[in-house]
Amino acid sequence: MAPRPFFSAGAWVQGRGEPIESRNPETGDVIVSLSCASAEDLDDAVEAARRAIAAPSWANLPRHMRARFLHRMGELIDRDRERLANVQMQDNGKVLSECRALLESAANTFRYYAAACETLEGTVPPARGPYLNMVLEVPVGVVGAITPWNSPATLEAQKLAPILAAGNAVILKPSEVTPLIGLEYAALAKEAGFPDGIVSVLTGGIDLGRAMVSHPGIDMISFTGGTAGGRHIAAEAARKLKPVVLELGGKSPHIVCADADLEKAATAVAMGIFSGAGQSCVAGSRIFIEASIADEFTSMLVEAARSLPLGSPADPETQIGPLVSFAHRDNVHAHVSRAVAAGANLLVGGVLPTDSRLSAGAYYPPTLLNRLSNNSDIAQQEVFGPVGVILPFEDDEDLIAQANYSDFGLAAGLWTRDIGRAWKIATRLQTGTLWLNSYKNLSISTPFQGHKQSGLGREKGLDGLRQYLQTKAIFWPA
Ligand code: NAD
Repeated sequence: MAPRPFFSAGAWVQGRGEPIESRNPETGDVIVSLSCASAEDLDDAVEAARRAIAAPSWANLPRHMRARFLHRMGELIDRDRERLANVQMQDNGKVLSECRALLESAANTFRYYAAACETLEGTVPPARGPYLNMVLEVPVGVVGAITPWNSPATLEAQKLAPILAAGNAVILKPSEVTPLIGLEYAALAKEAGFPDGIVSVLTGGIDLGRAMVSHPGIDMISFTGGTAGGRHIAAEAARKLKPVVLELGGKSPHIVCADADLEKAATAVAMGIFSGAGQSCVAGSRIFIEASIADEFTSMLVEAARSLPLGSPADPETQIGPLVSFAHRDNVHAHVSRAVAAGANLLVGGVLPTDSRLSAGAYYPPTLLNRLSNNSDIAQQEVFGPVGVILPFEDDEDLIAQANYSDFGLAAGLWTRDIGRAWKIATRLQTGTLWLNSYKNLSISTPFQGHKQSGLGREKGLDGLRQYLQTKAIFWPA
């Protein structure tokens, strides 16, 4: 059977690249073989995109008409939510209830940017002479979007919706590990009626991503993925003077002060690192506990970790599904094994499941380590699995120094009932997002930005739309 085609220039295409396979991490079975785009296939998609943005049918389309396409995408995702949630689950192993929530969020993302598309306004700055001065917000052109495997349903909606709302064309390259939702979105974009060439979704690996970054016909790159990939992309984009948005990795501190509601904090800290099997950019993977409650709270966390059922992502009882792939599971295990060999204490987990129910899948148990140094590899490197390290702190100065000792600055959580202390710590933590007495609340209307090596640029909110626009100032003499 021919591999599944990708979507380019309004049509389903058999590519000239080497095909790849999508596998279900619950069983290791191949779901489908996929056709991949070569450099020539990319040229075709870019040429179609450039034609499409120049055509009056897109360039002159009133904003409310453009917004209709986005509303329609939201409706189509809602219509197909159950099917799409199952596709996402099989491709990436996330539990079904979470996949349903991701699809709901994706539909809302299209609606949010439909509204923003209609309401975002230019400005008329005060005149400094006998002229009228208008500042228009115009599209950047053709945007290349490159996405990771951990939450394609939302991460790809967060690229497509604002890029299109801003009036650009988009060429999306989903992760080669989880390409299926991107292809489903392509089919919905065709059904929603976007002009041919405005949305293309090409399947392929890093080579295709690299070709997109250096392609002269792609005006901007929006990347979500690891910090190493982001660094390469930033360097190549600098050579081309091409704007980039980079949403990168994290090693987020989750902090528990002695006066916190410990019951609530234990549940949130456990879910902060173990939900999605830890494969979240904002996973609270460095757990800082005030020294006076370190033993008590560590026991609570170990108990919480033991109580989380591992199993089939389709089972409603399951809290932790398989990791995305066997290769990634082995990588996570290697991180833990190296940490233990270097002297860390394994409190729970850290062993591949032997249970016959789980041994066919890429499962890894919730794992906690302590008695290690904050500058050890496992406390500094992103593991991207269900692995938390526990680090005690003595006082606020010690906490701030330890929590900020990281290349990353994506997110943080803080549990305390003392509002003065909360404020002081919140203002000193180097982070793009901070959750007080909660964790992982996300909102499409709130900008999301990594500090330090966690990123450049912002997604979500109106800032997430503006970065795909450029200003054009027009001076008009009286
Ligand atoms: P990855 O960087 O390996 O790959 C991401 C995507 O980029 C894939 O499509 C890949 O093919 C492509 N790619 C990789 N290197 C490239 C290069 N040099 N040039 C062009 N394309 C390239 O990341 P991953 O393993 O798929 O995803 C996990 C990472 O994503 C984690 O570090 C996680 O923290 C991060 N992430 C960040 C956010 C955020 O919003 N900050 C959200 C989700 C995931």
